[in-house]
Amino acid sequence: MAEHESLEFGKADFVLLDTVSMEEFMANLKLRFEKGRIYSYIGEVVVSVNPYRAMNIYGRDTIEQYKGRELYERPPHLFAIADAAYKAMKRRNKDTCIVISGESGAGKTEASKYIMQYIAAITNPNQRAEVERVKNMLLKSNCVLEAFGNAKTNRNDNSSRFGKYMDINFDFKGDPIGGHINNYLLEKSRVIFQQEGERSFHSFYQVNVYLHLCHFHSSICLVTSINDNADFKAVADAMKVIGFTGDEIQTVYKILATILHLGNLTFGVDGDVTLIENTKQVSVIRDLLSTKEENVEKALLYRTVATGRDVIEKQHTTQEASYGRDALAKAMYERLFCWIVGRINDIIEVKNYDARIHGKNTVIGVLDIYGFEIFQNNSFEQFCINYCNEKLQQLFIQLVLKQEQEEYQREGIPWKHIDYFNNQIIVDLVEQQHKGIFSILDEACMNVGKVTDEVFLQGLDVKLAKHAHFSSRKSLEFDRDFRIRHYAGDVAYSVVGFIDKNKDTLFQDFKRLLYNSSNPVLKGMWPEGKLRITEVTKRPLTAATLFKNSMILLVENLASKEPYYVRCIKPNDVKSPLLFEHERCRHQVEYLGLLENVRVRRAGFAYRQTYPRFLQRYKMISEFTWPNHDLPSDKEAVKKLLQGCRFDHDVAYGKTKVFIRTPRTLFSLEEQRAEMV
Ligand code: ADP
Ligand code: MG
Repeated sequence: MAEHESLEFGKADFVLLDTVSMEEFMANLKLRFEKGRIYSYIGEVVVSVNPYRAMNIYGRDTIEQYKGRELYERPPHLFAIADAAYKAMKRRNKDTCIVISGESGAGKTEASKYIMQYIAAITNPNQRAEVERVKNMLLKSNCVLEAFGNAKTNRNDNSSRFGKYMDINFDFKGDPIGGHINNYLLEKSRVIFQQEGERSFHSFYQVNVYLHLCHFHSSICLVTSINDNADFKAVADAMKVIGFTGDEIQTVYKILATILHLGNLTFGVDGDVTLIENTKQVSVIRDLLSTKEENVEKALLYRTVATGRDVIEKQHTTQEASYGRDALAKAMYERLFCWIVGRINDIIEVKNYDARIHGKNTVIGVLDIYGFEIFQNNSFEQFCINYCNEKLQQLFIQLVLKQEQEEYQREGIPWKHIDYFNNQIIVDLVEQQHKGIFSILDEACMNVGKVTDEVFLQGLDVKLAKHAHFSSRKSLEFDRDFRIRHYAGDVAYSVVGFIDKNKDTLFQDFKRLLYNSSNPVLKGMWPEGKLRITEVTKRPLTAATLFKNSMILLVENLASKEPYYVRCIKPNDVKSPLLFEHERCRHQVEYLGLLENVRVRRAGFAYRQTYPRFLQRYKMISEFTWPNHDLPSDKEAVKKLLQGCRFDHDVAYGKTKVFIRTPRTLFSLEEQRAEMV
């Protein structure tokens, strides 16, 4: 526990509060924020409040202060948790992960970058060129992903519109040798529509400046905090450093330009013929995509359908054509983004690592994923994002709260049960087979005959009417369609667009068009375009199912690692460094479960180890145990050892493990051990 700080800054660890209540918690959080202490602990969990101003706490000298230190030796900091994860990885050969959560604008992405910078700074003391190269690529990949996956929103000028999990692989020396990125659900609808005051993805504005295309997106081309011109150069440079070829980079620009031009296409009718009103755009798109002009036009106006053995071309209505155009723009962007991530992975992936020669390859994972969202209008995207947060909260509950309590019970240690809300019921409401909302949505999408959002809503009504966390329009007095009582609060969703977004259809004609491009990079992004219409039989998985599957895998992956948590809090909605909006903060503290976290932690023990392993490490510090003990059991021996050091008051003896309450005791043991060996 960090006790080295003067109390004028409040308690560095919430575990040290005099009494655990919301009032005390908030008072301490506010005091620390006002004193410029943006980090605090709950045991090993970092609580961070976005300072909204440059802090002079991330430099080389600060890094040196945290390097190799124990958590409680220095004031709370992200670096301390990064170091703890790194030490666990290096000393104990454990795969670890750092889970960063909080709502949009709370500071997650900044935190993930500082953590990576710290890890980069403390590794590779021998300056091996290969390791330096890997580190540089890992850091540069952030810059590229942000350009294509981030956008200005009303909450955050640099809001991540995708979820990111990044593994960093280390060799036996503890130096980074590669990495892997998983991306989750890019908000691709942003390509065709942005709320008032928001922008599309940064990449479009960067390429706009480059191509002098400022007539697109003219209204909010400029945002004071963003320099698109400089960013364009930085991103181009980063892509080169990572190893994208010149052709690949050119293709990326061409795809962005194509999407911008698609946005200007309009359709009209002449008699019963649907046509493109601005044919000049079609030529431009043809050139950008390296395809034939007729093919572009045809793919936009017709759809090939198989009826029995016949294949016919069916003309779109103007409405269908517009739908197709938008679907194409979104799909091209999403595919581009995934392709970029895939290319980065190809390059940074660990190759030729032979564990028999180099020892076990260990991993630190960093998760920076969208926080809970409650907007004016909440749609399919918010639903997925909020489900993701339910899953992560469930993992947190299982790891930190439930396991902790269960272990004390198992070990027979006196323990007062702490009540907390278990959100598993909401996770089930969304993801359960057959009965869950995702299943009901998939079913509605597969309906023969009428497939509308309204049918989906009826399905919800029939199956979930009695669920405690669900209510539908019928019982609501406002004009949204259904409401979920999330662990973080109530959210009312509109069903409009759920079916479309879930089916996520892109006509096969477009896939064929792109596959038939003479640009090999573009062609390579659309391998399924190879299929003829009669060969396309399998129904693709829906967006909801894909997302659910990816979340389940993510949680399994995190659960297999030793987790460290950073909980980010957004102090106000106006990006002010001075304002601590009490109610906004209290709500976040509540739904992040921080108070329960403190209670469990206070009742609990910082460190635990089985008796044999404890002896193995510390037996040299006691005459009773060195080199071997003659007591009836290892448990007795550990008791004797700890009594000898007068630490007896700070420990509890379980059935198979010894539990140490405060880290300071452990630290003293380590010191004594260091003197002996
Ligand atoms: P999130 O990823 O949680 O949506 P960001 O990490 O993008 O939020 O942070 C939003 C903004 O808040 C940043 O662009 C930056 O201006 C500010 N910010 C966040 N963390 C810090 C920090 N540690 N120091 C200074 N400013 C910060
Ligand atoms: Mg972010």
